Amino acid sequence: MSQVSVPGTRTGLIEPHGGELVDRTGDRPGDVEQLEVLTLTSRELSDLDMLALGALSPLEGFMGRDDYERVVEEMRLASGLPWALPVCLAVDAAPQGDRVALADDSGRPVAVLEVEETYEYDKEREAEQCFRTTDDAHPGVARLYAQKPLYLAGRVTVFERAEPPFPELAKDPAATRAEFEKRGWKRIVGFQTRNPIHRAHEYLTKTALETVDGLLIHPLVGDTKQDDVPAKTRVDCYRVLVDNYYPADRVVVSAFPAAMRYAGPREAIWHAICRKNYGCSHFIVGRDHAGVGDYYGSYDAQQIFDEFEPHELDIEPMFFEHAVYCKRCEAMVSPKTCPHGGDDHVFLSGTKVREMLTNGEIPPVEFSRPEVAKVLIDAYRTDGT
Ligand SMILES: [Zn+2]
Repeated sequence: MSQVSVPGTRTGLIEPHGGELVDRTGDRPGDVEQLEVLTLTSRELSDLDMLALGALSPLEGFMGRDDYERVVEEMRLASGLPWALPVCLAVDAAPQGDRVALADDSGRPVAVLEVEETYEYDKEREAEQCFRTTDDAHPGVARLYAQKPLYLAGRVTVFERAEPPFPELAKDPAATRAEFEKRGWKRIVGFQTRNPIHRAHEYLTKTALETVDGLLIHPLVGDTKQDDVPAKTRVDCYRVLVDNYYPADRVVVSAFPAAMRYAGPREAIWHAICRKNYGCSHFIVGRDHAGVGDYYGSYDAQQIFDEFEPHELDIEPMFFEHAVYCKRCEAMVSPKTCPHGGDDHVFLSGTKVREMLTNGEIPPVEFSRPEVAKVLIDAYRTDGT
């Protein structure tokens, strides 16, 4: 229930952000039925779960005004520690009591929040600063604009964890850290994904893995856009890919319970900090990481890391270009490693791939592993989408 010290130096693993892994799970208080109940949105619930399990260390609850203001303006907590995105709970009015119960969408209380303060916030300013746009066609901005008008801050204690959608993949930061330690890994690269992994991303993860001890494939399984591939299908893809093409003793696949914010550059920083809490020393940042539409430049999510002092984040970003198979090089390549292009490169647009899969066609093996393509074809057929 209090902070648990993780002996980062003794295990050789990177220390959690801020130095200690937070644990905000605890016992159900006897008076929970008497408390005012606030029902959380799915994004807030996933933040709550992340707070409970320490993925958002050093945060112990929803942000107060001082943290919020400095995060929005300067990407730092009030303490000065880097932090890229608000983690806030929106409410209609200040609660009466000094504690409130937080409930899931069925109205069932799952946590208690110790009320610190309730404060006003400026949605347009938050949008402009965090999403770099005030356009409500942006899914993250749209969700922000739809929120209740005040933020409620306070430390949380979660007494009932949400049922994980993929129990076998539900490893908390303490569990991934224990797993890495058991395997004797010190340098681990984390890979964030919300898409099926085709050859291009297989290449990135394997190139990164060549330089470190282990790879954490860490698919995001919280809320995503309607048109993203459903988490269940993606998880099936990761399974067949890892089982067939990765050495089992070098890879851990685990679910990342966060919801997508589509905040592009700032979300890349946030994703990296979260993975540091899971024990990753390195983090893959591709082009347009966590982007949506054309709101962000291709390299914005990489360049934003320069806004911090070297080693301030501690976790090391590994920047990658788009990769593709080149027939003349006879290898996976990128613009950094291959002088060819045009017809030499096996490139398919996302739209083209979707079209092929929907028609039951297997894309070229240079683009997609047939095992992965088969999972996607089956999913498209079952869904009728
Ligand atoms: Zn080439």
